[in-house]
Amino acid sequence: MNLSDFYKEAGIDKEVFELGERAESELKDRFDAIDKMAELNQIKVIEAMRKERVSYDCLNGTTGYGYGDVGRDTLEKVYADVFRGEDALVRPQITCGTHAISLALFSNLRPGDTFVSIAGKPYDTLDDVIGLNPCPGSLAEYGVKYRQADLKPDSSFDWDAIRSVIDDTTKIVEIQRSKGYATRKSFSVEEIGEATRFVKSIKPDVLVFVDNCYGEFVEDKEPLEAGADFMAGSLIKNPGGGLAPIGGYIVGKKECIENAANRLTSPGLGREVGASLNAMRDFYQGFFLAPTVTAAAEKGALFATKIFEGLGYNCIPKADEKRADIIQAVELKTPEGLCAFCEGIQAASPVDSYVKPEPWDMPGYSDKVIMAAGTFVSGASIELSADGPLREPYAAYFQGGLTYPHAKFGILMALQHLVNAGEISLK
Ligand SMILES: *Cc1c(COP(=O)(O)O)cnc(C)c1O
Repeated sequence: MNLSDFYKEAGIDKEVFELGERAESELKDRFDAIDKMAELNQIKVIEAMRKERVSYDCLNGTTGYGYGDVGRDTLEKVYADVFRGEDALVRPQITCGTHAISLALFSNLRPGDTFVSIAGKPYDTLDDVIGLNPCPGSLAEYGVKYRQADLKPDSSFDWDAIRSVIDDTTKIVEIQRSKGYATRKSFSVEEIGEATRFVKSIKPDVLVFVDNCYGEFVEDKEPLEAGADFMAGSLIKNPGGGLAPIGGYIVGKKECIENAANRLTSPGLGREVGASLNAMRDFYQGFFLAPTVTAAAEKGALFATKIFEGLGYNCIPKADEKRADIIQAVELKTPEGLCAFCEGIQAASPVDSYVKPEPWDMPGYSDKVIMAAGTFVSGASIELSADGPLREPYAAYFQGGLTYPHAKFGILMALQHLVNAGEISLK
């Protein structure tokens, strides 16, 4: 049997398979460049692990208070080295990306301060954190004000708008690297650097914070190297490498991290407590795998773009654009199209492949959301997954894939489901 027979047995038509082979053959140079980036970042991670003398003992966890947890303390140094920060907090007690960002903000803002977003409205789950919707315990309840500068229609920074929202009370300026659930572009580290310099030219003592979710290891530099003060992300996305079962990180200026540690545990206890339980082996091994896992996910995103652009769908970013994260938005135009796409991704999953995803009212999101994820770690979006809010333009946000062959299979299955649903004709 050859490859096309395997796909056929899996339910992929010959036309769908052949479309995939053509798309893949046109991506060879791009794939080579992604592999080179993974190589560079792999060395970065190993070098940090060598420098900090990661030992077998680091892989064992602690219980109770977790005093003197060498594995945890060493891992935090490894993260700080790789992301070029003064210090880092990397914990299983940080439950997810939203929690990491919320922790970074609450711990570094005080009543009377203003928090400013200069990349338009932040990721949906931060609405409640900021208090855009009234929510018990929000920043608004603690007397932290919020202002935002929207992006220009071409999704570039609006310098005049940014100047007008920064004043004496501005303490933190947030830049979200990845597009999240918006149909804008994601920012490169270079663009983040340019915006950081501009913000600091207006108010030098402002802290620039980057929501780094999905951006890790896509480029050879990370936002702190471009001048940002601190940043946060989720361990069930890129840096967890698919193995971390939970967790978040904050990396950056020493005082920002100390504030975060004091809020995560308690003033006086700070970073000294927090047992790592059994998470350390997965955290280390996942971080070690993260550069190549991120590369696999990126190749999958590119493959999807090449195919769907060829079929006339609007994709963000476009196939020939430089990528800044692993998310691919494909605008499927109809609710049926969005649902068929997600059903295909689900059907190609190693876990829960027989389940049909349904749109639901997810906490923290204002529209119904459909999610496809047949993952080993629940909700891990570094694993092949697709989701999207049921609203115009019915964009599927597609991301992840621990291996490129799985990402490719998932995308072909998504295409097959669109064909079966009558949304696309290949004949
Ligand atoms: C995923 C994501 C978050 C939130 O992370 P969760 O782990 O889902 O809470 C925040 N910002 C961006 C840009 C994200 O992609």
